[in-house]
Amino acid sequence: MAKYIFVTGGVTSSLGKGIIAASLAKLLQARGFRVTIQKFDPYINVDPGTLNPYEHGECYVTEDGAETDLDLGHYERFLNIFTSQSNNVTTGRIYQTVINKERAGDFLGKTVQVVPHITDEIKRRMLLLGTEGNYDIVITEIGGTVGDIESLPFIEAVRQLQWELPDEDVVVVHLTLIPYLRAAKELKTKPTQHSVKMLSETGVHPDIIVCRTEEPLGNDIKRKIALFCNVKPEAVIEAMDASTIYEVPLLMLREKLDQICLRKLNVTIFPEPDLTKWKGFLDKLKYPKSKVSIGLIGKYIELQDAYKSILESFIHAGAINEVKVQVVNVHSEFITKENVAEKLQGLDGLLVAPGFGLRGIEGKIIAVEYARVNKLPFFGICLGMQMAVIEYARNVLGLKDAHSTEMDTATKNPVINMMEEQKKIRLMGGTMRLGSYPCKLNENSLAHKIYGETDITERHRHRYEFNNEYLEQFESKGMMASGKNPETGLVEIMEIPSHPFFIGVQYHPELKSTVERPAPLFVHFIAAAKEYNEQQASVSTAALQDALI
Ligand code: GLN
Repeated sequence: MAKYIFVTGGVTSSLGKGIIAASLAKLLQARGFRVTIQKFDPYINVDPGTLNPYEHGECYVTEDGAETDLDLGHYERFLNIFTSQSNNVTTGRIYQTVINKERAGDFLGKTVQVVPHITDEIKRRMLLLGTEGNYDIVITEIGGTVGDIESLPFIEAVRQLQWELPDEDVVVVHLTLIPYLRAAKELKTKPTQHSVKMLSETGVHPDIIVCRTEEPLGNDIKRKIALFCNVKPEAVIEAMDASTIYEVPLLMLREKLDQICLRKLNVTIFPEPDLTKWKGFLDKLKYPKSKVSIGLIGKYIELQDAYKSILESFIHAGAINEVKVQVVNVHSEFITKENVAEKLQGLDGLLVAPGFGLRGIEGKIIAVEYARVNKLPFFGICLGMQMAVIEYARNVLGLKDAHSTEMDTATKNPVINMMEEQKKIRLMGGTMRLGSYPCKLNENSLAHKIYGETDITERHRHRYEFNNEYLEQFESKGMMASGKNPETGLVEIMEIPSHPFFIGVQYHPELKSTVERPAPLFVHFIAAAKEYNEQQASVSTAALQDALI
């Protein structure tokens, strides 16, 4: 049987519960425990797949094709493990299960109620991963903020489990904010006191309080929080703002968050954590030797969470290359033929982002053309790959009206077309081509060189595909399908061998990049950008010398 750690949040949202949960998990993993994390979200969508990125940031896709909350990305990046559908549960999914059972008559005439039927289903799912025998510790992050109407059934389920399970099998960690009032030069504990009081009123008493703060707490404040919130002073943990999320596990180690949890779980003997690889990564991240600028061409750039996994993959790939990756957001809607050179000036590489719908499409195509013609390293992901195909069709193959049927259903040259099996689908939720699929790489391609193997698997989330009827035309004109699904022949990668680095992928390599296993395509893209940057520097030095002579 596993032990359970619950992480709740108070005072305000966006305190970084996911990062605290992932950091705690990392420390426990580094001490040799088998750990996983799951997230319970209080919204009614069955999963976040139908949410606009502006609502909730990126939708993270797991190996088994679940569309999940972006915190699962943090869990995988920190722990270097795969999560699955079971790791993300929403109110919508809970109700769907209970209502389906009701319709099947499974409740035998009973009135179906929030307590016990909804809470029973929540508890069943909270315990699920722990009963499989694969984990020693299961961490459950409860989305939302204590006091929200929506999260009440989840908090009630935690209360029941705290009561039902042996004392030494459950820990509740409550994350709060200690605001610093600049005018008074004071840290304020009252919001935390209120938040813990509210949690206690629902019957859940936290064992540990983690306090997000801009200023060090100091012993007096810690004692005050401990006294008023009824926990031991050592169970008040300071979580100072960090320069990078990857530093948080080390901050939590210093504050002994993991040891306090383990002691509450009655685990008294445990080894020192092995964080050698983690610290090695952090060192490289903090002390880069040079810098590259990458243009991120997208339409959701106002909201950084929309491209979370891509931004994190750049961090992993930058560290391994010992460069700082400066990401320059370029709004695709405002790129025109006239301003493209100016907008992309000084960049060492371009990443054209995934996306849906017509808005900002032409700007993406213009950006691709600029990268192709100027031999600027180019990396297109999903929609980005589709735009690269359209650009090549229009400007090299001469198919002037080439398009994707997603944006133009009437195009005479649908070089990107809806997948056959998608055509009969009417429902929106969970119906794309999702999750991990195999891909066979052409042995004479850059993609093969980058991966160092022929058979790979990567994760997907799309409805449209490269139209194979055009493949011959593309290949005869210098764009090659360097990766294909071995069973269906669907094109997974397009590249231009005569370009130093021009790769478009139909899948999402960013979803598998972790601290310990950075995604190969990102690593090589950053290496290509570094090379481009060095070349540009030597060209301008030569020009300067010429001018001086
Ligand atoms: N809209 C495109 C499709 O559905 C691309 C999707 C994506 O970028 N994730 O195929």
